[in-house]
Amino acid sequence: LFSGRVDFLLSAPQLQFLPEPDFPEVAFAGRSNVGKSSLINALTGRKAIARASVTPGRTQELNFFEIGMPTQFRLVDMPGYGFAKAPVKVVERWKRLVRDYLRGRAVLKRTLVLVDSRHGLKPVDIEMMTMLDQAAVGYRVVLTKTDKVKASALEQTRDAVEAISRKHPACYPYLHLTSAEKGMGIAELRAAVLADS
Ligand code: GDP
Repeated sequence: LFSGRVDFLLSAPQLQFLPEPDFPEVAFAGRSNVGKSSLINALTGRKAIARASVTPGRTQELNFFEIGMPTQFRLVDMPGYGFAKAPVKVVERWKRLVRDYLRGRAVLKRTLVLVDSRHGLKPVDIEMMTMLDQAAVGYRVVLTKTDKVKASALEQTRDAVEAISRKHPACYPYLHLTSAEKGMGIAELRAAVLADS
Protein backbone atom coordinates (compact mmCIF):
# COMPACT_ATOMS: atom_id res chain seq x y z
CA LEU A 1 0.00 0.00 0.00
CA PHE A 2 0.92 3.62 -0.31
CA SER A 3 1.92 4.40 3.24
CA GLY A 4 -0.45 6.42 5.39
CA ARG A 5 -3.53 8.29 4.32
CA VAL A 6 -5.43 8.57 1.08
CA ASP A 7 -7.66 11.64 1.17
CA PHE A 8 -9.83 13.32 -1.41
CA LEU A 9 -8.53 16.89 -1.72
CA LEU A 10 -10.58 18.71 -4.34
CA SER A 11 -12.16 18.70 -7.79
CA ALA A 12 -10.99 21.31 -10.29
CA PRO A 13 -13.46 22.12 -13.09
CA GLN A 14 -11.12 24.84 -14.35
CA LEU A 15 -7.44 25.64 -14.06
CA GLN A 16 -7.90 28.39 -11.51
CA PHE A 17 -9.18 25.79 -9.03
CA LEU A 18 -6.05 23.63 -9.08
CA PRO A 19 -4.36 23.14 -5.70
CA GLU A 20 -1.09 24.95 -5.05
CA PRO A 21 1.73 22.99 -6.70
CA ASP A 22 3.20 21.94 -3.36
CA PHE A 23 3.65 18.22 -4.01
CA PRO A 24 4.60 15.91 -6.86
CA GLU A 25 1.62 14.68 -8.89
CA VAL A 26 0.90 11.46 -10.76
CA ALA A 27 -2.12 11.57 -13.09
CA PHE A 28 -4.39 8.78 -14.35
CA ALA A 29 -6.02 9.02 -17.78
CA GLY A 30 -8.10 6.71 -19.94
CA ARG A 31 -11.33 6.19 -21.83
CA SER A 32 -14.55 6.08 -19.88
CA ASN A 33 -15.10 2.63 -18.38
CA VAL A 34 -11.46 1.60 -18.86
CA GLY A 35 -11.30 0.58 -15.20
CA LYS A 36 -9.64 3.72 -13.83
CA SER A 37 -11.59 3.88 -10.56
CA SER A 38 -11.02 0.17 -9.97
CA LEU A 39 -7.28 0.52 -10.59
CA ILE A 40 -6.94 3.57 -8.31
CA ASN A 41 -8.83 1.72 -5.60
CA ALA A 42 -6.62 -1.36 -6.03
CA LEU A 43 -3.42 0.73 -5.93
CA THR A 44 -4.45 2.67 -2.85
CA GLY A 45 -6.04 -0.31 -1.12
CA ARG A 46 -9.06 1.85 -0.30
CA LYS A 47 -12.30 0.47 -1.65
CA ALA A 48 -14.34 2.96 -3.64
CA ILE A 49 -12.27 6.04 -2.84
CA ALA A 50 -12.23 7.20 -6.44
CA ARG A 51 -15.91 6.51 -6.91
CA ALA A 52 -17.14 7.65 -3.50
CA SER A 53 -15.70 11.11 -3.71
CA VAL A 54 -16.74 11.77 -7.26
CA THR A 55 -20.36 12.56 -7.92
CA PRO A 56 -21.65 12.13 -11.52
CA GLY A 57 -21.52 15.88 -12.23
CA ARG A 58 -17.83 15.86 -11.48
CA THR A 59 -16.74 13.53 -14.25
CA GLN A 60 -15.43 16.48 -16.29
CA GLU A 61 -13.15 17.68 -13.52
CA LEU A 62 -9.63 16.92 -12.38
CA ASN A 63 -9.92 15.13 -9.04
CA PHE A 64 -7.00 15.40 -6.61
CA PHE A 65 -6.19 12.89 -3.86
CA GLU A 66 -3.48 13.22 -1.25
CA ILE A 67 -1.42 10.10 -0.69
CA GLY A 68 0.67 9.49 2.43
CA MET A 69 0.98 11.01 5.82
CA PRO A 70 2.72 13.37 5.74
CA THR A 71 1.70 13.89 2.10
CA GLN A 72 4.14 12.25 -0.30
CA PHE A 73 2.37 12.99 -3.54
CA ARG A 74 -0.97 13.77 -5.15
CA LEU A 75 -2.87 11.38 -7.34
CA VAL A 76 -4.84 13.13 -10.08
CA ASP A 77 -7.87 11.37 -11.53
CA MET A 78 -8.43 12.91 -14.97
CA PRO A 79 -11.86 12.85 -16.58
CA GLY A 80 -12.51 9.79 -18.74
CA TYR A 81 -12.54 10.47 -22.47
CA GLY A 82 -13.95 8.92 -25.62
CA PHE A 83 -17.64 8.59 -24.82
CA ALA A 84 -19.36 8.42 -28.20
CA LYS A 85 -22.28 10.65 -27.33
CA ALA A 86 -20.42 13.54 -25.72
CA PRO A 87 -21.37 16.89 -27.30
CA VAL A 88 -18.57 18.62 -29.21
CA LYS A 89 -18.59 21.48 -26.69
CA VAL A 90 -17.96 19.09 -23.80
CA VAL A 91 -15.12 17.38 -25.67
CA GLU A 92 -13.54 20.73 -26.51
CA ARG A 93 -13.81 21.85 -22.88
CA TRP A 94 -12.21 18.60 -21.75
CA LYS A 95 -9.33 18.98 -24.19
CA ARG A 96 -8.64 22.55 -23.15
CA LEU A 97 -8.65 21.72 -19.44
CA VAL A 98 -6.39 18.69 -19.84
CA ARG A 99 -4.00 20.34 -22.30
CA ASP A 100 -3.61 23.43 -20.12
CA TYR A 101 -3.10 21.28 -17.04
CA LEU A 102 -0.45 19.13 -18.74
CA ARG A 103 1.44 22.06 -20.18
CA GLY A 104 1.59 24.23 -17.13
CA ARG A 105 2.13 21.75 -14.33
CA ALA A 106 5.77 21.50 -13.28
CA VAL A 107 4.91 19.18 -10.36
CA LEU A 108 3.32 16.61 -12.68
CA LYS A 109 5.92 13.85 -12.64
CA ARG A 110 4.17 11.13 -14.59
CA THR A 111 0.88 10.15 -16.21
CA LEU A 112 -0.56 6.67 -16.55
CA VAL A 113 -2.56 6.08 -19.72
CA LEU A 114 -4.96 3.21 -19.08
CA VAL A 115 -6.01 0.99 -21.97
CA ASP A 116 -8.58 -1.80 -21.87
CA SER A 117 -6.93 -5.15 -22.73
CA ARG A 118 -9.97 -6.09 -24.80
CA HIS A 119 -9.83 -3.00 -26.99
CA GLY A 120 -6.17 -1.99 -27.35
CA LEU A 121 -5.24 1.54 -28.40
CA LYS A 122 -8.05 3.61 -29.94
CA PRO A 123 -7.61 6.92 -31.81
CA VAL A 124 -8.61 8.85 -28.66
CA ASP A 125 -5.81 7.11 -26.73
CA ILE A 126 -3.30 8.07 -29.42
CA GLU A 127 -4.60 11.63 -29.18
CA MET A 128 -4.02 11.59 -25.41
CA MET A 129 -0.50 10.18 -25.89
CA THR A 130 0.27 12.87 -28.46
CA MET A 131 -0.90 15.56 -26.05
CA LEU A 132 1.47 14.14 -23.43
CA ASP A 133 4.34 14.00 -25.95
CA GLN A 134 3.73 17.64 -26.84
CA ALA A 135 3.62 18.67 -23.18
CA ALA A 136 6.77 16.58 -22.52
CA VAL A 137 5.07 14.72 -19.66
CA GLY A 138 6.45 11.20 -19.31
CA TYR A 139 3.80 8.47 -19.26
CA ARG A 140 3.32 4.77 -18.82
CA VAL A 141 0.74 2.76 -20.72
CA VAL A 142 -1.19 0.37 -18.46
CA LEU A 143 -3.35 -2.43 -19.82
CA THR A 144 -6.39 -2.99 -17.59
CA LYS A 145 -8.76 -5.97 -17.12
CA THR A 146 -6.19 -8.52 -18.31
CA ASP A 147 -8.31 -11.23 -16.67
CA LYS A 148 -10.94 -10.63 -19.36
CA VAL A 149 -8.82 -11.80 -22.30
CA LYS A 150 -7.07 -15.03 -23.23
CA ALA A 151 -3.28 -15.17 -22.92
CA SER A 152 -2.81 -15.35 -26.72
CA ALA A 153 -5.02 -12.29 -27.34
CA LEU A 154 -3.28 -10.41 -24.54
CA GLU A 155 0.09 -11.11 -26.12
CA GLN A 156 -1.10 -9.79 -29.48
CA THR A 157 -2.51 -6.64 -27.91
CA ARG A 158 0.67 -6.12 -25.92
CA ASP A 159 2.85 -6.41 -29.03
CA ALA A 160 0.62 -3.99 -30.95
CA VAL A 161 0.55 -1.45 -28.10
CA GLU A 162 4.30 -1.70 -27.55
CA ALA A 163 4.98 -1.12 -31.24
CA ILE A 164 2.93 2.08 -31.18
CA SER A 165 4.36 3.17 -27.82
CA ARG A 166 7.88 3.09 -29.21
CA LYS A 167 6.90 5.82 -31.68
CA HIS A 168 5.86 8.16 -28.88
CA PRO A 169 8.84 10.02 -27.41
CA ALA A 170 7.45 10.64 -23.91
CA CYS A 171 6.13 7.07 -23.51
CA TYR A 172 7.94 4.53 -21.34
CA PRO A 173 8.97 1.50 -23.40
CA TYR A 174 7.71 -0.81 -20.66
CA LEU A 175 4.02 -1.74 -20.69
CA HIS A 176 2.18 -2.61 -17.46
CA LEU A 177 -0.31 -5.48 -17.43
CA THR A 178 -2.89 -5.24 -14.66
CA SER A 179 -6.11 -6.70 -13.36
CA ALA A 180 -7.70 -4.75 -10.53
CA GLU A 181 -10.12 -7.62 -10.11
CA LYS A 182 -7.45 -10.31 -9.64
CA GLY A 183 -4.78 -8.04 -8.17
CA MET A 184 -2.39 -8.82 -11.02
CA GLY A 185 0.42 -6.34 -11.68
CA ILE A 186 -0.81 -4.04 -8.92
CA ALA A 187 2.22 -4.26 -6.61
CA GLU A 188 4.60 -3.67 -9.52
CA LEU A 189 2.64 -0.66 -10.75
CA ARG A 190 2.39 0.75 -7.22
CA ALA A 191 6.18 0.54 -6.90
CA ALA A 192 6.58 2.27 -10.28
CA VAL A 193 4.20 5.08 -9.28
CA LEU A 194 6.04 5.60 -6.01
CA ALA A 195 9.36 5.74 -7.86
CA ASP A 196 7.86 8.24 -10.34
CA SER A 197 6.54 10.57 -7.67
P1 GDP B 1 -13.84 3.86 -14.96
O1 GDP B 1 -15.09 4.37 -15.59
O2 GDP B 1 -12.69 3.96 -15.88
O3 GDP B 1 -13.56 4.44 -13.60
O4 GDP B 1 -14.06 2.28 -14.79
P2 GDP B 1 -14.49 1.40 -13.53
O5 GDP B 1 -13.38 1.20 -12.58
O6 GDP B 1 -15.77 1.93 -12.99
O7 GDP B 1 -14.72 0.00 -14.26
C1 GDP B 1 -15.62 -0.14 -15.34
C2 GDP B 1 -16.16 -1.58 -15.34
O8 GDP B 1 -15.10 -2.49 -15.56
C3 GDP B 1 -16.79 -1.98 -14.01
O9 GDP B 1 -17.91 -2.80 -14.27
C4 GDP B 1 -15.69 -2.77 -13.32
O10 GDP B 1 -16.19 -3.73 -12.42
C5 GDP B 1 -15.00 -3.42 -14.49
N1 GDP B 1 -13.56 -3.67 -14.20
C6 GDP B 1 -12.65 -2.75 -13.80
N2 GDP B 1 -11.44 -3.34 -13.64
C7 GDP B 1 -11.59 -4.64 -13.93
C8 GDP B 1 -10.70 -5.78 -13.96
O11 GDP B 1 -9.50 -5.72 -13.67
N3 GDP B 1 -11.24 -6.98 -14.34
C9 GDP B 1 -12.57 -7.11 -14.68
N4 GDP B 1 -12.98 -8.32 -15.05
N5 GDP B 1 -13.41 -6.08 -14.65
C10 GDP B 1 -12.95 -4.86 -14.29
